[in-house]
Amino acid sequence: MRPDCLFCKIAGKQVPAKLAFENERVLAFEDIAPKAPTHLLVIPREHLASSLDVSPRTHALVGELVEVAARLAGERGFAEDGYRLVFNTNAAAGQTVFHLHLHLLGGRSFGWPPG
Ligand code: AMP
Ligand code: ZN
Repeated sequence: MRPDCLFCKIAGKQVPAKLAFENERVLAFEDIAPKAPTHLLVIPREHLASSLDVSPRTHALVGELVEVAARLAGERGFAEDGYRLVFNTNAAAGQTVFHLHLHLLGGRSFGWPPG
């Protein structure tokens, strides 16, 4: 828990968020500025700044982020059509919150390559 980190505060319920899922290790909540009909952020409770912080110790945790996102895509009915998972990392990718988060975007089509 980093006292200056927005997503640590969401995980600690000090900042409100619309939760879609939580367990002891991860939580998913609605993005405050959605870029698709469904736009959720799936995060570990543990503070990792970005994908650059992933290590063998956290492989299972990061795998769980992907599994939770896929399950939520299924529950929300767009898994078969398709969806997008994104880890923005550092400035060139537009990362603005430096607590690892997996974007789950669904409910519309997505272009490739992304902007
Ligand atoms: P990124 O640009 O990959 O770092 O993504 C950060 C995301 O966090 C953006 O899509 C923001 O809209 C979202 N965001 C920022 N503040 C909040 C908040 N308080 N609750 C939910 N989502 C947030
Ligand atoms: Zn944090």
